[in-house]
Amino acid sequence: MADDAAAPPSPSADHPLRVAVVGAGPAGIFTADALTRQQDVPVAVDLIDRLPTPFGLVRHGIAPDHPRMRAIRDTLHRSLDHPLVRFVGNVEVGTDITLDELRRHVDAVVYTYGAALDRHLGIDGEDLPGSLAATELVSWYCGHPDADRATVESALRRARSVVVIGVGNVALDVGRVLARTAEELEPTDMPQHVLDALAAAPVEEVTVLGRRGPAQATFTTQELRELGELARATVLVDPAELELDPATAERVAADRAVARNLAVLKEWSQHRPEPGHVPLRLRFFRRPVRLIGEDRVTAIEVERTAVDDEGRAVGTGELEVLPADLVVRSVGYLGTPLPGLPVDERSGTVRHEDGRVLRDGRPSPGEYVAGWIKRGPSGVVGHNKHDARETVAGLLADAADGTLRVRGPVDDLVHTLQARGAEPVLLEDWRAIDAAEQALGATRGRARTTMHEREALLAAVRAAAAR
Ligand code: NAP
Repeated sequence: MADDAAAPPSPSADHPLRVAVVGAGPAGIFTADALTRQQDVPVAVDLIDRLPTPFGLVRHGIAPDHPRMRAIRDTLHRSLDHPLVRFVGNVEVGTDITLDELRRHVDAVVYTYGAALDRHLGIDGEDLPGSLAATELVSWYCGHPDADRATVESALRRARSVVVIGVGNVALDVGRVLARTAEELEPTDMPQHVLDALAAAPVEEVTVLGRRGPAQATFTTQELRELGELARATVLVDPAELELDPATAERVAADRAVARNLAVLKEWSQHRPEPGHVPLRLRFFRRPVRLIGEDRVTAIEVERTAVDDEGRAVGTGELEVLPADLVVRSVGYLGTPLPGLPVDERSGTVRHEDGRVLRDGRPSPGEYVAGWIKRGPSGVVGHNKHDARETVAGLLADAADGTLRVRGPVDDLVHTLQARGAEPVLLEDWRAIDAAEQALGATRGRARTTMHEREALLAAVRAAAAR
């Protein structure tokens, strides 16, 4: 739709700036919040998600045994409830509506759809049954509608010796969830089939492997400490792996976060295996070389490493084979392109300047980016707030100087979607899902049970609409 010459050149209360935010996770919700908190530029925000549910990784990433962290939903919900924000779920940009069509419905688009893919190791055997990406396991235990139940549950049925590759917070989440008892997981909002499969998994040992040393691990102390509080798992650390060369010792002394991690690990290095407990080993200086097995993974070959002056892991040639029926690679997430929006392949992020999307090296008018798809998969939920504010500041500055203008009258996005047979899920529909999940949880004395099937989520919406 061409610019209407009669349309007001700058946003006003009658003609607010229409902004579509693509991705209703924390980055998208913080973007909507930053847009609606200010008074200078009148706005109307459509917060679009391909799932019928909001909250992104807060719902489908933060581990369900972290209820306090997941409680950030309540804060995020306040932004969703804002009268100038419209949640439009169950709409996939690129499928239900093309990016070009979306851009013709609004004055600006902010991409906040995160980084959903997993990184690969690029080693032999990685695709064998029994080898999973952390994203697959996390999606499954959080009840993501796209989780591959059959693959994950089949892998778990044989999972006696588990090896998790990577020493970030996601690796700790995975190791911790697998080492927990059924009683510990019982009060969480995991779907019932997940609780049943985890309770039946024959996990006898869990090893979390870092390719560099404990001083280079990216986990945070709070998450690390929690491993020591599990009901029936004992963390084991080899004291030899905590010995520091002089340069590392100097660095550790200057970095309080790393020093805290090392203090925790040192305490654990005194632990001995406890009868009846799952040994949860944290091992360092081991990089994966290949996964071994005919029809499925039976072991993993690792190479001992040393950390060079640049902090890189360098192989020593010393190989070791660890038994493993389940290998989970937890080596980071990767952002993917949206049809019509290029993403840098290596970094998995959209090229941008202060949140303004760059096309052919120049800011593309009306296109912005925030969250993991902007800066890569790092940081906790709260980091997205600052990030979203930076992007929104640029967007508002563009509105103020006339770079961003309000178009003439356009069709309403939701009407367009409904007219073509899509089934957008709006805020009141999400409330119906929310209520259904709480009711489902109450049947077993829980606050909530996540409904994992898209059809079940939509059925809750339809049932509420029919009442
Ligand atoms: P991460 O912190 O970047 O950790 C990735 C891990 O994978 C690192 O240990 C990395 O080692 C390792 N790795 C990468 N490539 C490898 C390879 N080829 N072979 C072996 N190891 C490899 O990422 P994440 O754990 O996915 O977490 C993503 C973000 O979410 C982080 O900011 C994290 O803090 C956050 N998060 C927070 C929480 C929480 O607060 N509770 C929970 C989950 C996630 P190198 O360092 O050697 O590259």
